[in-house]
Amino acid sequence: MSVERPDLLVVGSVAIDWIITPSAEREESVGGSATFFAMAAAYFASVRLVGVVGADFPQRTLADFRAAGVDAAGLRIVEDGLTFRWKGRYHENMNDRTTLETHLNVFESFVPSLPPGYESSEYLFLANIQPQLQLQVFERMVGPRLCGMDTMNLWIDVARDDLLRVIAKVDVLTINEEEARLLTGEHNLVKAARGIQRMGARNLVIKRGEYGALLFDESGDFFVAPALPLEEVIDPTGAGDSFAGGFMGYLARRGVPPSGASLRTAMIYGSVMASFCVEGFSYDRLRELDAAAIQARFRRFAQLTDFAHAHLLS
Ligand code: AMP
Repeated sequence: MSVERPDLLVVGSVAIDWIITPSAEREESVGGSATFFAMAAAYFASVRLVGVVGADFPQRTLADFRAAGVDAAGLRIVEDGLTFRWKGRYHENMNDRTTLETHLNVFESFVPSLPPGYESSEYLFLANIQPQLQLQVFERMVGPRLCGMDTMNLWIDVARDDLLRVIAKVDVLTINEEEARLLTGEHNLVKAARGIQRMGARNLVIKRGEYGALLFDESGDFFVAPALPLEEVIDPTGAGDSFAGGFMGYLARRGVPPSGASLRTAMIYGSVMASFCVEGFSYDRLRELDAAAIQARFRRFAQLTDFAHAHLLS
């Protein structure tokens, strides 16, 4: 991929997770929405990360951020605090999970502050974090060209009004299917999507785990991206955030206003990065990629649903 790297600012959680899957467990697994987003998006754009961690956060990850080209000057380290911790157990199907514990820790008193120059980043992603913090960052920005966001069921339940305020401001919302249903009370995803667009989301991506993702754009069009059928999923944690990293990273790299074709391509780069993410715990797989591996997988996705040469019955 070529040289020009636009600035893409992400604010979100940086976490230490405890992951339990039907076949494995990792107790100190670095995660967080901003971590996965940054490690995926760094292949496309110059990522600036804003978040907070405690003194228990591994130095190794700070080195990994540096190696990936992620600027972590906006990652505050609270010396007498503990990092946000999340514990989850995946069900047999690896698509559904139960949250066992959430400890906000340093996030409880976090006020995001942007290092000088960050406010003029051209691209912004408000990854999953308290909607109030998303709003604070959004309001400090000086007219980003494109702003995306993500959220989760917890915030739909406990901070709905703030969440609706952020949704109405951004250009793209990514949300998973259960959250789309929870937000709207609609089971049918097309109806849920239209409901969320009426709440002010211009472009909407509904993530469906192993079933791929749906795009509903502001022109009323929609598009379906598959997920790569994988024989073995090691850890689905962060798939949604890696999707968002590939999606926003591609749009930033293209630098054009999002349109039908660029949004569709972004959907595939998102799916590519999500498919790598689930092949390992934490960001293990994301950190070892290169442009050739990403392009090769993009081509695999193109083949996955290519029926242009199919015989059409006359
Ligand atoms: P995903 O699998 O893409 O939904 O993202 C999983 C990540 O979300 C994990 O690494 C968690 O640390 C993080 N996470 C879980 N709960 C929260 C929360 N309430 N706020 C922010 N991040 C969270």
